[in-house]
Amino acid sequence: MSEQKISIAYDHPDAGQTCCSTAQAWARTPQEPAADEKAELISRIKRLLKEQDAVLVAHYYVHPDLQDLAEATGGIVSDSLDMANFGHQHPAKTIVVAGVRFMGETAKILNPEKRVLMPDLEAECSLDLGCPVDEFAAFCDGHPDRTVVVYANTSAAVKARADWMVTSSIALPVVRHLMEQGRKILWAPDRHLGSYVQEQTGADMLLWQGSCIVHDEYKAKELIEMKAAHPGALVLVHPESPRAVVKLADVVGSTTQLISAAQKSVAQEFIVATDNGILHKMRTLCPDKVFLEAPTAGAGANCTSCSHCPWMAMNGLRNLAEVLENGRNEVHVDPAIGLRAKQPIEKMLEFARQIKLPTRGIGNA
Ligand code: SF4
Repeated sequence: MSEQKISIAYDHPDAGQTCCSTAQAWARTPQEPAADEKAELISRIKRLLKEQDAVLVAHYYVHPDLQDLAEATGGIVSDSLDMANFGHQHPAKTIVVAGVRFMGETAKILNPEKRVLMPDLEAECSLDLGCPVDEFAAFCDGHPDRTVVVYANTSAAVKARADWMVTSSIALPVVRHLMEQGRKILWAPDRHLGSYVQEQTGADMLLWQGSCIVHDEYKAKELIEMKAAHPGALVLVHPESPRAVVKLADVVGSTTQLISAAQKSVAQEFIVATDNGILHKMRTLCPDKVFLEAPTAGAGANCTSCSHCPWMAMNGLRNLAEVLENGRNEVHVDPAIGLRAKQPIEKMLEFARQIKLPTRGIGNA
């Protein structure tokens, strides 16, 4: 089967100070297996997971088949931190991460004694790519008076350079906590999430200027038109989206928080501004409600992602079965870097415990 690749443009900030030059990456485009092949793959993967003493942890944004398979085999579908924590608590010796590279790395950092596999090690993230460690370290060195807070969507090496790691649902309390201590903050890599946190808290924050290629594409003008056409719909927005889109939200939150809002709300219709992979979980949990994708089209649109992350889409049943069979695509993190990267993660986990924020509720892209 011939492999097809698509080219992807992403923001590469110039030392974080100004936005942005554009860099190019790529993603493999998956081909859907036919129904009979799909059934055979699913039963093979179930057998291999047992044989390999492995557990499948999947992100909300991956293909519904993988989400269903993770849950059907005793694994989990969630955000990246929950995925890593679940793997840590689960007795399986192997964790298979269906997501993108930084998620596999986070799982390995928290579980260095376990084998961590991924269907495709080249599944990237524009936030991670747009924040190379050498440039980021130079940026940090230029501002030694600032506490370095990084988002989960970063490499192990960038986490190792940070004082704190946060995910989107704990970012506000962590930044408020640092403000109480009189700290000034250096934030990376997502500029939209950083602006949102800055606006909500009033903190002194210097922002790295990265962005998510999926959330950056949501369009405010077209969203206003869509709201007018669906006046009863609640607008759910992930804060990696542009400010003008966040302003139109009824609920702003992490993946887990948006799912929870959809469950709790009496509304029957929702416009969702985050990767459309999440709609599978929302529709499963709320079968009587209607979920619509927020618009990515309109003036200036290039539709790199069309509401779906091309790197998350690199996870499929075929490459999942292959890695379980051949053991390739194991995630490795330099032990010294892993040890340093673990500190800001554990600091966040401890803080979450102190403020009684359930881990299960900590979400990120
Ligand atoms: S959806 Fe955005 S933040 Fe999430 S992995 Fe893809 S590029 Fe990264």
